[in-house]
Amino acid sequence: MVAVEVVDVTDELKSDYDVVVAGGGAAGLSGALMLARARRSVVVIDAGAPRNAPASGVHGLLARDGMPPAELVERGRAEVRGYGGQVVSGEIGAVTREEAGFRVALTDGRTVRARRLLLATGLVDELPEVPGLRSRWGRDVLHCPYCHGWEVRDQAIGVLASGPLSVHQALLFRQWSDDVTLFCHTMPSPSGEEAEQLAARGIRVVDGEVASLEIVDDRLAGVRLNDGTVVKREALAVAPRMVARIGFAEGLGLRPVEHPSGAGEHLPSDATGRTDVPGVWVAGNVTDLTAQVGSAAAAGANAGAQINADLIAEETREAVAARTRGDAPFSAASESRVCEAVLGDRRHGL
Ligand SMILES: Cc1cc2nc3c(=O)[nH]c(=O)nc-3n(C[C@H](O)[C@H](O)[C@H](O)COP(=O)(O)OP(=O)(O)OC[C@H]3O[C@@H](n4cnc5c(N)ncnc54)[C@H](O)[C@@H]3O)c2cc1C
Repeated sequence: MVAVEVVDVTDELKSDYDVVVAGGGAAGLSGALMLARARRSVVVIDAGAPRNAPASGVHGLLARDGMPPAELVERGRAEVRGYGGQVVSGEIGAVTREEAGFRVALTDGRTVRARRLLLATGLVDELPEVPGLRSRWGRDVLHCPYCHGWEVRDQAIGVLASGPLSVHQALLFRQWSDDVTLFCHTMPSPSGEEAEQLAARGIRVVDGEVASLEIVDDRLAGVRLNDGTVVKREALAVAPRMVARIGFAEGLGLRPVEHPSGAGEHLPSDATGRTDVPGVWVAGNVTDLTAQVGSAAAAGANAGAQINADLIAEETREAVAARTRGDAPFSAASESRVCEAVLGDRRHGL
């Protein structure tokens, strides 16, 4: 007969957890899976808006290539729950330090306490304000060639200059198509070495501000300039400013800083996800702006293991201290106290 362990999980928040995970995308769920398997009490509190939600599939993810983002998250949630972890819908409004850990307040008024925090709330893509652009985001308005490059291979690709890495982005997309046009939009026309690189790779440069996108039959058809010219394009790459979603952690002194690449703001951490605030780890896009789903999941798993190790170190310190004080179960001192209480003067020894 096979013994089956039944793990009963509800979505009702308890008052205390070893770990509260903020955010249930690839990073948060992966961290929670690690922690639940380490027999930690863990809850993922998730607002339910993963960054790649507008995309039809997750690409470049080994063994799951093309899976719809919502399905990936659902599978992850089921795996966490399968080991007794909880996944609860809600938005965290604030986290503050308490004597023995942290207090996590949800915007709906619920609160929980945690010994450790894993913050995996991702980032916000701040898109350029061009009429028609936002509604195409994740479909034919793209940012990452590794996520979408294959799907738009050999198409007429535009690159909207909207950040310090736009020339680099145009050179990257050239790998997938030999028909790439860089729209300077509000940025100065590339000069010097950059202009030479673009020319050498056959990338057309169009000066002038972009007025809007031309959409025909629910597809991108072109890019309209302020002077009325329409340049036919089937896909448009943009460089959104990427800003870590971490405002709720200000009470801990955690604030995003400008990323050295100029691509946005992130919350710095060490290679294991540990922040400057003891007991708080981060994983995924909130700290690594360029993390894809695979690397976000890996960072979450790594942070989960580090948190478990940190808790083990704390519990071991406490056990050693208790043993030294003589109040540990089965220490010589506690055995003697029990003996005294139970047998009193009926004791006899050799
Ligand atoms: C259009 C698009 C397409 C992409 N395609 C691909 C692809 O094909 N392949 C690939 O590998 N990567 C792709 N990416 C990148 C991918 O989205 C990220 O790598 C991934 O989402 C990062 O995971 P994460 O867990 O860090 O953040 P997210 O997946 O964004 O998860 C963060 C979670 O935290 C929640 N949250 C935020 N604030 C709070 C709060 N205060 N309280 C509670 N919960 C909160 C959010 O609702 C969200 O559910 C794409 C990105 C975009 C924008």
